[in-house]
Amino acid sequence: MEQIKELKIKEYQSIPVVVGESDSVYDAISAMFLEDVGTLFVVDESSHLAGVLSRKDLLRASIGNQDLESMPVSIIMTRMPNITVCKKDDLLIEVASHLIERQIDAIPVVNEKENNRYEVVGRVTKTTMTKVLVHLIHSELPQGGKRS
Ligand code: ADP
Repeated sequence: MEQIKELKIKEYQSIPVVVGESDSVYDAISAMFLEDVGTLFVVDESSHLAGVLSRKDLLRASIGNQDLESMPVSIIMTRMPNITVCKKDDLLIEVASHLIERQIDAIPVVNEKENNRYEVVGRVTKTTMTKVLVHLIHSELPQGGKRS
């Protein structure tokens, strides 16, 4: 239990999938399918974090007869400064608590730059937490031990 409490984000983070804030909603939907992720991070022209797009954000924008190819993601995304972020040295258990308390599926891992701007370097999701659980249980098995 004490070891679990000390696990850091950097050991488990995965690669982020980002789109540009002037990209269209149509392109974001394509990226979500092609990259097989449930959350996209949106970056501005200088590659700093500008927003987050969830599956439901994109679904909501798709309802009705709107032209998704001419609608930029910047008008539907959740934007800075309302984004929950984490850093690679944060404790995994604290970030897991943020996912639950804020009822979100993913948190970008960031490097802080000048003027409260962030570079996106990773991604932590509910799936990350499920993988950690499985990894921990497997690594608890004695060497050569049999899994039931
Ligand atoms: P879904 O909307 O598909 O259920 P989420 O629960 O992750 O997926 O997202 C819920 C809302 O919270 C969405 O509007 C999304 O833009 C926003 N959101 C997702 N991740 C974050 C985050 N890390 N920080 C702030 N808002 C977020």
